Amino acid sequence: NRQITLASRPVGAPTATHFALAERPAPVPGEGEVLLRNLYLSLDPYMRGRMSDAESYAEPMAVGDVMVGGTVARVVSSRHPDWQAGDLVLAYGGWQDYALSDGRGLSRLDPGMAHPSLALGVLGMPGFTAYMGLLDIGQPQPGETVVVAAASGAVESVVGQIARLKGCRVVGIAGGNEKCGYVVDELGFDACADHRAEDFPQQLEAACRQGIDVYFESVGGAVFDAVLPLLNTKARVPLCGLIAQYNDTGLPPGPDRLGLLMRTLLTKRIRMQGFIIFDDYGARFGEFLAAMGEWVRQGKIKYREDVVEGLENAPQAFIGMLEGRNFGKLVVRIADD
Ligand code: NDP
Repeated sequence: NRQITLASRPVGAPTATHFALAERPAPVPGEGEVLLRNLYLSLDPYMRGRMSDAESYAEPMAVGDVMVGGTVARVVSSRHPDWQAGDLVLAYGGWQDYALSDGRGLSRLDPGMAHPSLALGVLGMPGFTAYMGLLDIGQPQPGETVVVAAASGAVESVVGQIARLKGCRVVGIAGGNEKCGYVVDELGFDACADHRAEDFPQQLEAACRQGIDVYFESVGGAVFDAVLPLLNTKARVPLCGLIAQYNDTGLPPGPDRLGLLMRTLLTKRIRMQGFIIFDDYGARFGEFLAAMGEWVRQGKIKYREDVVEGLENAPQAFIGMLEGRNFGKLVVRIADD
């Protein structure tokens, strides 16, 4: 059983030295347990937070622990009454070939699912995050301008497409021409500004002539600096993530912008609300899955996966995601079904 563990805690950007590959015997299920073969592993930005011991909404991993992560897995053998060998499940199996589970947190997947990895993306946690954050907190109205950063990404590509379905004008922000082109040409966004371009703030302003009514925040940093002056009165800002800040070791460069932020929130009566998807909305997963399943079946919501082959390549892929090297929902194929 190959396992990728947390070798040491990164300060700043993680590198290969913060991960270790261990080879251990496959675990044996005890009474009430199932043995899982992980097929696909989801790589997600939240994992960076778990590698640190700074206070957060979830417990950090300990050094030496197997890296945590959602997986699509096959039940190999079961001593649990609810699960049988051969079942296809969504699990929290971690960065390893095999995992044990006592059944908690397992959910059954349709064995006939054409693309089981979608349970880690558009039909799973990222899609759910997009759906609830945009609709419940963002409350987009027809004709409004919705802006979403990291627009080709797992969560944000879905945010923009739902906003289009709700009749909004949608402007993406992405890194580079290729991602911007994809967002407009394939996903149907109205425009996209390149946050790596020197004139990024001007590009964004030109694309948002009517200002911004909903800004779905998952980046922070310089991107938010460009968004803030464009926010309209009564704008809503679902605060989903701050990926540009996850590797920071100190305060951001430049003048303190907290006063400007507070004044803008007050005078424009802007509502900014953070959320942690399963803590806040877990009970509504079924509602999400029914709506999203239908949209995906009808081709109204498109998705793109960035599939990395082999568990051993997970660390490099994860490091790359924090620099924007992934293009679409990042998953690792660990084994053939
Ligand atoms: P993505 O698939 O969007 O991958 C991350 C993308 O972020 C990169 O491809 C890159 O896109 C962009 N990025 C990385 N570094 C920077 C930077 N310094 N400045 C600007 N953009 C950057 O990941 P997800 O869709 O899985 O996650 C997106 C966000 O949602 C994260 O912040 C994550 O923490 C958050 N999240 C929050 C949840 C919650 O419950 N609150 C649940 C799930 C996700 P580009 O090249 O276009 O810049």
